[in-house]
Amino acid sequence: MSETRERIAVVGAGLVGSLWALMLTRRGYTVDIFDRRPDPRTAGDVGGRSINLALSERGWKALDLAGVQDEVREISMPVKGRRMHALDGSLTFQPYGRAEGGRFGEGECIYSVARGSLNQLLLEAAEKTGQAQVHFNHKLEDYRQDDDGVTLNFGAGGERKADRLFGTDGAFSAVRMRMMKGDRFDASQEYLKHGYKELELKPDGQGDFQLPSDGLHIWPRGHFMLMALPNPDGSFTCTLFAPFEGVDSFDEIVDSDAALAYFEKHFPDFVPLMPDLKAQWDSHPLSSLAMVKCAPWHENDRVALVGDSAHAIVPFYGQGMNCGFEDCTVLDGLMDRFLDADGGGHWGEMLAQYSELRKANGDAILELALRNFIEMRDLTGDPMFLLQKRIEGRIAKQHPDQWVPLYSQVTFTHIDYAEALKRGNRQRAIMHQVMDRPDIENVSDSPEIVAQAIALLQEGA
Ligand SMILES: Cc1cc2nc3c(=O)[nH]c(=O)nc-3n(C[C@H](O)[C@H](O)[C@H](O)COP(=O)(O)OP(=O)(O)OC[C@H]3O[C@@H](n4cnc5c(N)ncnc54)[C@H](O)[C@@H]3O)c2cc1C
Repeated sequence: MSETRERIAVVGAGLVGSLWALMLTRRGYTVDIFDRRPDPRTAGDVGGRSINLALSERGWKALDLAGVQDEVREISMPVKGRRMHALDGSLTFQPYGRAEGGRFGEGECIYSVARGSLNQLLLEAAEKTGQAQVHFNHKLEDYRQDDDGVTLNFGAGGERKADRLFGTDGAFSAVRMRMMKGDRFDASQEYLKHGYKELELKPDGQGDFQLPSDGLHIWPRGHFMLMALPNPDGSFTCTLFAPFEGVDSFDEIVDSDAALAYFEKHFPDFVPLMPDLKAQWDSHPLSSLAMVKCAPWHENDRVALVGDSAHAIVPFYGQGMNCGFEDCTVLDGLMDRFLDADGGGHWGEMLAQYSELRKANGDAILELALRNFIEMRDLTGDPMFLLQKRIEGRIAKQHPDQWVPLYSQVTFTHIDYAEALKRGNRQRAIMHQVMDRPDIENVSDSPEIVAQAIALLQEGA
C-alpha cells in the first residue's frame, strides 16, 4: 500500500459511501466521511430506507475487493427464488438461477442482509484501517473548488478542506445540487406514481419463519403487490407497493380498519400471519420513490458522484446498492490505470472515463428496474409468463454459452447493465415469437422449441 498526502472527503456514510471510503483507505488515502445523520450506533437510525436489501453478484465483487466479503456473508442469508402467492392461496416457486454454482457454491441466489448491519460493518472496517474518520451530524450545505482543493461547507458545522470530494449522499444529493449550478450539467428527478409501506412479519412463537425462508415472497395483484424478504432472525420485511392515488391506492386506505379490509381482500393468506397489522399500519411511514438521472457524474478532476447521488433507481430489480457498489469496483479499477503509485496522476481523465462508462449503465438499470416492476406485480401471477420462464430456463440450461436469461445477466454476472438490456431485448423478442405459436402449450417441452429459439438467436447474430 502506498502512502499519499491526499485527503479525500466522502460525503454520505450510507452503504456506498462507507464501502468507497473503505476502498480508498486500502489504497492509502486519508479519508474523512461526513454524514448529516447522528451515529446510527447510538441513535439506532438506518437512514429511513428499506430495512433489508438483496445483495447480488455485482455487490459481492466489490465487497470482495474491499476485503469484507466473508464478514458480510456471515450476516446475510441466501434467497433462492420467487414464491408467488395467488389470490386463492396457491403457491408457485420460481428459482432465480441454477441450483449449482454461484459465488458461495450454494447455487445462484440473492442474499438478504440488514441495511443497518451492513452499513455498520463497512463503516467500522473503514475506521479500523486507522485512515478513515467518520464525522456524523455534518450536513453538507455547499462546496467550492479552489486552486488547491475543495472546501466543504457544513453551515454551523464550519468548513473543511479536502483534495477531492466524492458525493455519496444519496438520491437528494447536496453535491449533485451544487453541480447543477455549474455549466452543462444535466439532471432530472422524477417520482414513481407508486409508494411503499414496510411491515414486519415477526417469527412464530418458536422463533421460526412463518413462511418458507428460501424465497422472496410476492403477492402479485396487477397494478400493486406485496413482497416479503426474509431476515436471518426469523422475521420477514414486507413491503406493500401500491399507487398513491386511484383504484386500490394508498389514498383509499384511509385508516387501519381500511388497511385490514384491503389485506383481507387482496392478500387473505397473509392476514392471519400478522395479528398486529393494524397497529403497524398506523405507526409505519408511507414512502415515495424518486428516480434520478444526471450527466456527467464528475466535475473536472476533483469532484464525482457515486451511488444513488448519480443514479437513484426504483427498487424492483434489487440493484440500487449493487449498482452503487459496482461504481466502486469500476472506480477502483480505473485508479489502477490512471493514477501513479503515490495517488497522483490523471484524476481528470480517470473521472471522465468513470462517468462515461457508468452513465449508460445507470440509465439501463433504471429502465430494467421499471420493467421488472411490471413483471413482478403483474406477470409473475400469469400462467403463460411462468410457462415462458420455464421454456427459457430449458434454453439456458442446454445452451448456457449462448443464452443467459436477463435476470441472471443482471443478478449473477458482471455484464454491463446496458449490454444486458440490449441482449435481454433480443431474447425477449425471440421469446415472444416462440410464445406466439398457437400450439405452444402442447409443445413447450419439445426439443423443437429450444432449437427454434437458438435458430432465431443465430439468425440475428
Ligand atoms: C424500499 C427499497 C428497497 C431497496 N432494496 C434494494 C435491494 O434489495 N438491493 C439493492 O441493491 N438496492 C436496494 N435499494 C436501493 C438502495 O437502498 C440504494 O441504492 C442504496 O441505499 C444507495 O446507497 P447510497 O449510499 O448511494 O445512498 P444512501 O443509502 O441514501 O446514503 C446516503 C447517505 O448520505 C447522507 N446524506 C444525505 N445528504 C447529506 C448531506 N447533505 N450531507 C451529509 N450527508 C448526507 C444520508 O444521511 C445517508 O447516510 C432499495 C431501496 C428502497 C427504497
